[in-house]
Amino acid sequence: MKTDPRETRLRERLETIRARSAKSSSWRSSTQYLSRLVNKGGFVPIKTRLSREDIAFLSGAREEVIAFADLGVRLLDLHRPQEAGGITSDPGSPIRRCRACMSRWPCPTFRAMAETLDQ
Ligand SMILES: [Zn+2]
Repeated sequence: MKTDPRETRLRERLETIRARSAKSSSWRSSTQYLSRLVNKGGFVPIKTRLSREDIAFLSGAREEVIAFADLGVRLLDLHRPQEAGGITSDPGSPIRRCRACMSRWPCPTFRAMAETLDQ
């Protein structure tokens, strides 16, 4: 089967974002420390050492996180359950299917999102 060039482009874009993010430093422990140093003006004046990889990550991080959050919300809007109707063995728990892909609920798309994000 021939691959859709749009799929190739999207995969490359995701791989690039992933690789750039993975190479940058985690700010988790630094921000826990820095949050205690917020001054009266609401700021923390800091000096920091940023690697080339950190700068590459930070330059696009905001837009990329917003794009991923938008993507997640749009996928959630699409992949929602609906009553499938028809005969079920257990009338107390009717079979539900995804409105978008018609898989049994929870559908693979929703499961993939839950497994990736719900940690
Ligand atoms: Zn679905």
